[in-house]
Amino acid sequence: MNLCDLKTVRQIMAMFHLTFHKEFGQNFLTDRMVVENIAEECCFDENSTILEIGPGIGTLTYELALRRRQVISLEIDRGLIPVLQYTLGEFDNVRVINQDVMETDLEELLAPAFSEGPVSVCANLPYYITTPILMKLLESRLPFEYITIMIQKEVADRLCAKAGSKDYGAITAVLAYYGEAEKLFTVPSDRFVPAPKVDSAVIRIKLHREKPYVPRDEALLFRTIKAAFGQRRKTLANALSTGFPELTREQITSAIASLGHEPTIRGERLDIAQFTALSDTLYPLLHTD
Ligand code: SAM
Repeated sequence: MNLCDLKTVRQIMAMFHLTFHKEFGQNFLTDRMVVENIAEECCFDENSTILEIGPGIGTLTYELALRRRQVISLEIDRGLIPVLQYTLGEFDNVRVINQDVMETDLEELLAPAFSEGPVSVCANLPYYITTPILMKLLESRLPFEYITIMIQKEVADRLCAKAGSKDYGAITAVLAYYGEAEKLFTVPSDRFVPAPKVDSAVIRIKLHREKPYVPRDEALLFRTIKAAFGQRRKTLANALSTGFPELTREQITSAIASLGHEPTIRGERLDIAQFTALSDTLYPLLHTD
C-alpha cells in the first residue's frame, strides 16, 4: 500500500467514510521522498523510540516503524484510529493512542521508553497549534534526543534565525536555551492533501544535554527575553524599562552598559548567551533584601 499516492489516500478516506478535518490541521503528506527523508533524518539511533504527534493515516508512522525500534503515536481524531489499525496492521512496534497531545502526561507515557533507550520526537505538526506543542515538549524537560518537526516555512525561519536577523524573535532565543535548531529542507504546499496555503519546512532540534548557558533564575531569563521583544522597534533600554517597572532607568542603562553593549542596542541583537548575562545582571537589582 502506497500511502503517499493521492488516489490511495482518497480511497482510504472514502473506505472509512472520512473527510479531512481542517480544525485538526489535517494536511497529509503525499511525497514519498519527503516522508522517507524525515524518517531518516529525525534521529540517528535505530534503537530509538519515536514519539509521533498526529499520525494522520500513518504515512510517516509507516516509514518510522520500518527504521526505528518503536513508535508511539498520539492522534486526536478518533475517526482515524481504525484507519491506522488498517494501514499499520503489519507492525508490532507501533502503538497508536487516541489522545490530544496537549492533554497527555508525556512523562508518564514515555517513562518506560526512556528507561529502554533514546527517545526522539518526529512529527508533521498541525499548524494551528505548532508553538504550544513545541513549548510543551521543551518545557516538559524530558531528555529527548531530537525534536524533528514539519511546520510552516515562516515559523521554521523564525525558529532557526540568527540573532540580529529580521526573523529573530523571542521564541528563537527561548528555543536556543533548550537546544540547537537546524532547518533541514523546505516542502512546497502541493506535496500535501489538501494543500495548505503556505509552504512548509522541516527543522531538527538537538536538545542540549547540558545547557551551555545556565541563568541564576530561569524565570527571570524568560521575563528578560519577553520584555526585550515586547517593544520590537524600541531600544533594549526602553523595552526593559517597560517590562521591569520596578527598576529605575539608570539601573537598566548601567546594567546594559556593564555588559559592553551600546546604549542604543536593540533586544533583537542579543543571542541567548547575552540574554543570560543580562538577566544575571538584573538579578541582584531585583533581589535587594
Ligand atoms: N502525519 C500525517 C502526515 O504527515 O501525513 C498527518 C499530519 S497532519 C499535518 C496533523 C495530524 O495531527 C492530523 O492527523 C491531526 O488529526 C493530528 N492532530 C491535530 N491536533 C492534534 C493534537 N492536539 N494531538 C494529537 N494529534 C493532533
